[in-house]
Amino acid sequence: LRKWDNDHVWHPFAPMQAFREEKVPIIERGEGFELIDIEGNRYIDGISSLWCNVHGHQVPEVDEAIKEQLAKIGHTTLLGLSSPPSIQLAKALVDRAPGDLSKVFYSDSGSTAVEVAIKLAFQYHQQKAGGPEKRTRFVCMSNAYHGDTVGSVSVGGISLFHRIYGNLLFETIQVPTPVALRTPEGYTRVGYLEHCVAEMERLIRENHEDIAGFVIEPLVQGAAGMQIHPTGYLKRVRELTREYDIPLICDEVAVGFGRTGTFFACEQEEVEPDFLCLAKGISAGYLPLAATMTTDKVFNAFLGEPQEGKTFYHGHTYTGNPLACAAALASLELFEQQNLLEHIGKQTALIAEKLSPLAEHPHVGEIRQKGIMVGIELVGSREGMLAFPTTARMGHQVTLEARKRGLMIRPLGDVIILMPAPAMPLDLLGEVCDITIEAIQAALEFHA
Ligand code: PMP
Repeated sequence: LRKWDNDHVWHPFAPMQAFREEKVPIIERGEGFELIDIEGNRYIDGISSLWCNVHGHQVPEVDEAIKEQLAKIGHTTLLGLSSPPSIQLAKALVDRAPGDLSKVFYSDSGSTAVEVAIKLAFQYHQQKAGGPEKRTRFVCMSNAYHGDTVGSVSVGGISLFHRIYGNLLFETIQVPTPVALRTPEGYTRVGYLEHCVAEMERLIRENHEDIAGFVIEPLVQGAAGMQIHPTGYLKRVRELTREYDIPLICDEVAVGFGRTGTFFACEQEEVEPDFLCLAKGISAGYLPLAATMTTDKVFNAFLGEPQEGKTFYHGHTYTGNPLACAAALASLELFEQQNLLEHIGKQTALIAEKLSPLAEHPHVGEIRQKGIMVGIELVGSREGMLAFPTTARMGHQVTLEARKRGLMIRPLGDVIILMPAPAMPLDLLGEVCDITIEAIQAALEFHA
């Protein structure tokens, strides 16, 4: 298997040499919150697969729901047909979602959930205007990650991706993300947050006639290294987008399903988006599923004759897959039954307490935590906040040290990420934190 993996499997986001040099664990089984590889090594999963596992693996309720559905049919389409699980899940999501999000469009990844939202918003303005419309540009945030399709990269703000794929992407209006940007001397630039808010306001006011939508990951930019927005920012974005009738697209692919402490992150600022993008945790990390939710107001603009273009020209083969929807329904029920939001509150407090010894660590620049989303930023020197040389690959070294100690994590550069499953028991979560600290120490000693 290892030879065939090296010879034939092109792993995403992997340095092209790395998986030939390093032994990539080949995961054969999952039990509870542990992953077991083909050699029988066990690892606690500190990042819930890729931020998507909610209740662990081999969860009887979810397994049963999938098996029951499988005994009926594995897949049927939503193009001209429907299926009970996709209908029931849509109803459950609508009941759970903030505001008047009453329509659910299914796809199969976070990237496509965002892609669908931007295409819908773009076309919505045309439908309203009854012809080509000049509202064609999206406002998005610097450093944001919204997926890997051409559209979701376009509305993302990862400069490396823009450098590589730039000619393929569409232009956007990028606003600076309001996070505590540090100067080379290590201090937050005075007035920077206020500057970001003012810039966002200016760019909307000056361009509102051209703007098709505002895309934002509410409260915390996960894949940007857990960058947390100041309280009130999202609310301000909603006020302005409402003022200029600009659809607000909230990407809750990572922050949804309890991770920030509320079921949906935008609830914390009482924000009701026009589009809500969901994936990852929606199906508890079992099967690919995504949903783009929107309002009657948007939906109604598409009513009419398809020949006149009054339809949404988008549909995936596996849209609303019944197995994935059955898993999602079972997961939502478990979430309620087990009162996971309350448990997440306890997990949040435990992580903060366990990681507090790192706060003054000479190689920890910052610990960023929102609910159970955590980023520990490693720096070469806390004084001056100087980064480690990229060749040191410190984040990667910590991952390897953690793995030796039976913990699976995945860094974002030199930011160590913890994304435990919402249902992970507190004792196991405590172990995740302890091993992380040990792994950081071991990697630093090795580096020294
Ligand atoms: N949006 C956000 C905020 C994400 O974090 C991710 C994935 N990390 C995506 C979109 C893309 O999701 P997927 O990988 O399922 O396409």
